[in-house]
Amino acid sequence: MRASVLEQARQPLVSRTLPDPVPQSGEVLLRVKACAVCRTDLHLRDAEIEAARLPVVLGHQIVGEAEDGRRLGVPWLGWTDGECRYCRTGRENLCINARFTGRDIDGGFAGLTVADEAFCLPLPDGLSDEHVAPLLCGGLIGYRALRLTGDAPRLGMYGFGSSAHIICQVAVFQGREVFAFTRPGDTDTQAFARSLGATWAGGSDEAPPEPIDAAIIFASVGELVPQALKQLAPGGTVVCAGIHMTDIPSFPYADLWQERSIRSVANLTREDGYQLLELAPRVPIKTTVSLYELERAEEALSDLRAGRFEGTAVVVP
Ligand SMILES: [Zn+2]
Ligand SMILES: [Zn+2]
Repeated sequence: MRASVLEQARQPLVSRTLPDPVPQSGEVLLRVKACAVCRTDLHLRDAEIEAARLPVVLGHQIVGEAEDGRRLGVPWLGWTDGECRYCRTGRENLCINARFTGRDIDGGFAGLTVADEAFCLPLPDGLSDEHVAPLLCGGLIGYRALRLTGDAPRLGMYGFGSSAHIICQVAVFQGREVFAFTRPGDTDTQAFARSLGATWAGGSDEAPPEPIDAAIIFASVGELVPQALKQLAPGGTVVCAGIHMTDIPSFPYADLWQERSIRSVANLTREDGYQLLELAPRVPIKTTVSLYELERAEEALSDLRAGRFEGTAVVVP
């Protein structure tokens, strides 16, 4: 099969022909129809988070077709032990032995992939392969972050890329007001956010017209945490949705006082997946995608790093 492979960290992905993968017991062989690009792929490529093994095929938002014709989604959570203290308490996202797609298990920047069938997700009809793929990490982990904001009616989103453009639609569907914060001066992305239902859009250095009840930080920029905290109403929460973030600068305790909190979100549970994929056609979530052929996966990562597209990059074989 053809694959776009990370052989060395901080080096471009390279196109290779690899032996076809062979499914083991409990696994399913999938022909990859589309694989959306996540910022985590970029963090692995740039060694901001460590690849567990090299070479590795990145890509963990896979839409694949099984040999019996079923369409399945393969997310970041590739396998858990099912028996650790986290798995036994409904927190398999924190499993101490978890294996992740496109890091510990070869992922979807390839013609074929194998996945543990118990961790594959059923996909809703009515969304094409390219348009459903961005839900499988940007959507799912964003949805988990949204759940952790509770019922906050006024929601800030810092960084309006793949995940935010999906979760904005879900939040508006739930009747919340969305305040979108972008890089200062990025009026195109601010207009994009308004087109998806955001009540207000401005730069991350600006104050919203009224205090917000929660903020989700999608960008990997630690400075945004104290900035978001300053905009929170008492009792509000800042949720950091990324796997990697630059250091968070210090800030006055008064900004945290009055029961404000800061927390992170890690990975996803299958339950997050079932819930979002059930909700998607009812919203209905519409994803904005830029398509890249498999050989251009490295270019998709460069364009993500430079912020050259709105929405999500999707690699297609
Ligand atoms: Zn476990
Ligand atoms: Zn991801």
